Amino acid sequence: MRKPIIAGNWKMNKTADETTALIKELIPLVSDVDTVDIVVCPTFVNLSAAREALLGSNIALGAQNMHYEKSGAYTGEVSADMLLALGVKYVIIGHSERRQYFGESDESVNKKTKAALEAGLVPIVCVGELLEEREAGITAEIVCKQTKLALLGLSAEQAAGVVLAYEPVWAIGTGKTATANDANETIGAIRNAVKEVFGDDTAKSVRIQYGGSMKPSNAAELMAKPDIDGGLIGGAALKAADFCGIIKY
Ligand code: PEP
Repeated sequence: MRKPIIAGNWKMNKTADETTALIKELIPLVSDVDTVDIVVCPTFVNLSAAREALLGSNIALGAQNMHYEKSGAYTGEVSADMLLALGVKYVIIGHSERRQYFGESDESVNKKTKAALEAGLVPIVCVGELLEEREAGITAEIVCKQTKLALLGLSAEQAAGVVLAYEPVWAIGTGKTATANDANETIGAIRNAVKEVFGDDTAKSVRIQYGGSMKPSNAAELMAKPDIDGGLIGGAALKAADFCGIIKY
């Protein structure tokens, strides 16, 4: 049985004080939840404030990116060990905004995924098709290729510990959502790609989220689908009531 995981990607939003305030608002709303893993991913500079605010709660801390090297001359970058030392448990890797604006490639996603796992972080690895790829009917081909390249060289046990996030790029921040059936079908294809490489047990264990304009009003329908194990939430994670509404789908 896969435990659902709902993660909020706060992107480049909130100051340290606003981070603390949002977490303090969220904690009592979800303190009774033990059937869903809850994660918030503030920006790097606010991880420390978030860690303090989250102490004693049932919400885990995540980061939005990391570098694959352990240390060195990489100005502006942050390593897995630095994140761990701040109490971070999860790290988003290969978000489409990083692929689109910051040159993230399938190769760097793979290196980061390996480095995260080796350090003891849980990577949340994002895959997803562009609108033109969807219109060309190659969604499954694109996301399965991204998935296999992201997980290249991992052991079956390591792959089972990754969280995958299927995020159709055209649905992120646009208010457009994949239908629950479409999302489930594509996530099923991703699970099958995992099965082809790592076997049935790994495919059955790996958690795969949906992301793309998920909100309280569509969370229940999406989460009712057998292959959808959670959500990666952008806009709706910035309001405690909306994020809680999704967590309590
Ligand atoms: C995201 O950025 O991962 C995302 C899913 O954003 P939104 O929920 O705003 O579409």
